[in-house]
Amino acid sequence: MQQKILLEEREMPTAYYNILPDLPDPMAPPLHPGTGKPVGPEDLAAIFPMELIKQEVSQERYIDIPEEVQRLYRLYRPTPLMRAFALEKVLDTPAEIYYKYEGVSPAGSHKPNTAIPQAYYNKQAGIKRLATETGAGQWGSSLAFACGLFGLECKVYMVKVSYDQKPYRRSMIRTWGAEVVSSPSRDTAAGRAVLAEHPDSPGSLGIAISEAVEDAAGREDTNYSLGSVLNHVLLHQTVIGQEAMVQLAKVDRFPDIVIGCVGGGSNFGGIAIPFVREKIKGKKLRAIAVEPASCPTLTRGEYRYDFGDIAKMTPLLPMHTLGHTFVPPSIHAGGLRYHGMAPIISRLLMSNLIEARAYMQNDIFQAAVLFARNEGIIPAPESSHAIKAAIDEALVAKKEGKKKVILFNLSGHGHFDMGAYDAYFAGRLEDHEMHPDDIKAALADIKDLPVLEPVA
Ligand SMILES: *Cc1c(COP(=O)(O)O)cnc(C)c1O
Repeated sequence: MQQKILLEEREMPTAYYNILPDLPDPMAPPLHPGTGKPVGPEDLAAIFPMELIKQEVSQERYIDIPEEVQRLYRLYRPTPLMRAFALEKVLDTPAEIYYKYEGVSPAGSHKPNTAIPQAYYNKQAGIKRLATETGAGQWGSSLAFACGLFGLECKVYMVKVSYDQKPYRRSMIRTWGAEVVSSPSRDTAAGRAVLAEHPDSPGSLGIAISEAVEDAAGREDTNYSLGSVLNHVLLHQTVIGQEAMVQLAKVDRFPDIVIGCVGGGSNFGGIAIPFVREKIKGKKLRAIAVEPASCPTLTRGEYRYDFGDIAKMTPLLPMHTLGHTFVPPSIHAGGLRYHGMAPIISRLLMSNLIEARAYMQNDIFQAAVLFARNEGIIPAPESSHAIKAAIDEALVAKKEGKKKVILFNLSGHGHFDMGAYDAYFAGRLEDHEMHPDDIKAALADIKDLPVLEPVA
């Protein structure tokens, strides 16, 4: 059996797969933050190019990937599908474990898969500059890289705790030619408002989003760009699952279980959505979304309308949420610290097409170290949530004596997260589970927002 299952460049997908027309239950529309009415294209046009707005609501099953985007994808795609022989052996499991490795991109994660088309469509629309937020720095560096390819300026509002913890992510952003500031910053009214109340705020994605949206809304030449959550982002990420499906078919396999970690839901959606389509058509499959116990959006949040940011500038999205005022504890899996979830992922969970689970930080680092010592790659802490679930499922297969096929997304490498590994080895990582009272308090802040009809 092959260890690396590789594709030729000509075997790459030439269209994104859009799950919206195939959903068994319809998606509730995003609502305007002021009027509470469904948002129209004109509401979004101030900060997004029309092509991306169209993709956000498209009912077309396939959307062509522009030639130029395909060409730029070839800088690192197709990505390899790996069989984790050594991990299987050490677990003594009858299961086959495969992982799709997205860490081969220049930024070291799956995020350039959407950064490149987003920069492309903005450039096509005549935009000169993009503003964005970044949590752990992966998105900021990915967008900086993509903007560089198209000659766009880029300003990144980076959550303060990561800005301080991950100086080399800042350096990457600057190397690719973008500007990066610590958020909350003094550059926006939203940032100054937070600083006035909490001068020592560690920042959060919600705050940084407010800053970037304010920046983009205030300048004619500038648009806003989001690295996860929105429909068009998950759409772009489906190149991952489409490639993986072709790769598995080459060794005559279809997965029993597909796994990904979830922050905003884009890498999980990217790998899982093409397979979930097969499930909707009748194939047997489990898809598992894995989140940190310290930010348990899918497992303990409520499914309802909430804002995407703290300053309530984004539309109200139908999603699982811990409340937009929720500031998660400073765990190291910085990329998973978001209060909300992609509406598509929330919809799939409510329709019982996917499952969700949460893990503690020390457990995921234990899984990460076992993986690194057997498979070589040092995984990002975020991705290690998926590894932990894959290991657990392989052990279940062992107990049941079943030869299951497990596929997970290794969304990125951990080369800029070695401080977190050091903390783990020193026994300094604290396991943190949200107290029910904290969740209640955060959710109380959104009790007056419109509720969602719980469909099926
Ligand atoms: C950003 C990031 C994530 C989380 O974001 P999603 O949108 O949920 O995919 C996961 N893994 C890595 C490596 C990341 O950079």
